[in-house]
Amino acid sequence: MYQVLYRKYRPKNFDDVVGQKIVVKTLENAIRNNKISHSYIFYGPRGTGKTTLAKIMARAVNCKHQDGKLLCDSCKNCIVSKENECVDIIEIDAASNNGVDEIRELKSKVNLVPSSLDYKIYIIDEVHMLSMGAFNALLKTIEEPPAHSIFILATTEIDKVPETIISRCQTFSFERVSNNDIVKRLRYVSDLENINISDEVLYEIARVSEGGMRDSLGMLDKVSIYKTAEITLEDFYKLNSLLAEKEIKDFIKDFCLGNNKELIKKINDYFNSGKNIVQIANQLVYKLSDVIVDYYINNVKEDFFDIKLIEVLANTLNEKMFDLKKSEHPNIYFEIMILNILRKLSPKSIDYEDKKNIVIVENKNSGFDSKIVEKEIDDNNAEDENFVEKKKSNRVVNKEEINEENLKLLYDINDVRINNTFAEASKDALNNHKSMFSKFSDFTFDTKIGYLICDIMDATLRAASERNIILSYEYDSSVKKNLKNIDKIQKVYNQITGFNVSIALITDENWEKIKEEYIKNKKNGIIYEYKEEPSLDDNSEKVVDDGNSESVIEMFGDVIEYE
Ligand SMILES: [Zn+2]
Repeated sequence: MYQVLYRKYRPKNFDDVVGQKIVVKTLENAIRNNKISHSYIFYGPRGTGKTTLAKIMARAVNCKHQDGKLLCDSCKNCIVSKENECVDIIEIDAASNNGVDEIRELKSKVNLVPSSLDYKIYIIDEVHMLSMGAFNALLKTIEEPPAHSIFILATTEIDKVPETIISRCQTFSFERVSNNDIVKRLRYVSDLENINISDEVLYEIARVSEGGMRDSLGMLDKVSIYKTAEITLEDFYKLNSLLAEKEIKDFIKDFCLGNNKELIKKINDYFNSGKNIVQIANQLVYKLSDVIVDYYINNVKEDFFDIKLIEVLANTLNEKMFDLKKSEHPNIYFEIMILNILRKLSPKSIDYEDKKNIVIVENKNSGFDSKIVEKEIDDNNAEDENFVEKKKSNRVVNKEEINEENLKLLYDINDVRINNTFAEASKDALNNHKSMFSKFSDFTFDTKIGYLICDIMDATLRAASERNIILSYEYDSSVKKNLKNIDKIQKVYNQITGFNVSIALITDENWEKIKEEYIKNKKNGIIYEYKEEPSLDDNSEKVVDDGNSESVIEMFGDVIEYE
């Protein structure tokens, strides 16, 4: 019968364990010096060897150490503990049914002496899944454990284990296994199993499995069943629904060239063909970091490279990976992220949002048919004189252009709104608003309000009260741009969420400053008082939507019913 590689090559002894050197050494010393504790917690990411090591430990503490070995595999206890049905090594999977019955049974039997071994070992896997009742029962048991019993608790989420339990256990943190260690182990297994595979592919397996030995062996299993001839990188990508080298490179190329449409089409194609967007984003991060290293260290440059864009994409993907994984619609999240970076940074990118605010300048020197320039670009920054001249002559003045005075007023209103949010801020309000954010993604591609939705989703919700919220942006330019549009943003926000709030904007950096100030003031008993917002005078009617029904209907189109 075929046995999966993960089971076949599961370490049987301390020496076989991959990685976790400190944990292994400490446990070995404890056995050697007879300083065994009665309860342990092993915690860390999945597939890093927690249960495996718990099983080795269970046998080693019972071993009679023939020939001076920690786990001799030949003494009478080792022969008993090797059996699958060994009654003195009890495995409980807390994930299966919250463990109430198991823990009750454990409690009733824990005082009985082991039937053939010296120690009775309880291994409780995914211990954080136990119900409160089961935790309490377990707590009573490990508070006064019988001399003959040892508990080994394993979990991927130590935060969810009650402090009262943790404080009574000796804790061991399991690290992700390094790629090099995984590759070494995969090479060992491949050679024994006659799997025809290069180190390059093994390294890619290690990368994709993110430090999990079990997942790595699972992938090796899959590719080895697929093919007996040499397994290539392309085989590996195909089998795991990942992108081939060329596809990743093409994606980066489209990104550098600002081919918005092509990028959205690609992401949709990946998604529709069942590819895992999170894995693809991961692949992209690794490829981008290779590109950056090649660019600066090895001087390898493709002519389409825009290294600044590549760095921003690598950084953003890295930072947002956690949110991407959590997202219910990773494909949409990914699309918006890409579009936002291009909108902010790429002059080559055609921005559907700012079409009315841009001028198109023919530039024959450029490799592109046309060059799109934001009207706010400072003339001094443009190096090409002709380019500047053309830009000036073609400058389109937006009817809604906001003069400096009005902008100052918008900032004044914004400041009052920030103050007012602090004056009435509450955790409940913040949570209520947060829970609404997922609603926005449904409107991302609406032709009328999609650009406003992107602006909202691009922001971080920082604080909220009944009447105000604060959104923050990474760049000052985004704050300025969106402040000019704040009335529209606010209307869309309130229509979709059903709230009725005024919105204040701030940069991430300034948010950190005023937050600290707020905390300091609060400690010193300084109170924020609610203030009336300054009103915009007649001159600024252009800026502020008059709110009449016609314009609102025009704005929302058929997406939202206006009452
Ligand atoms: Zn033994």
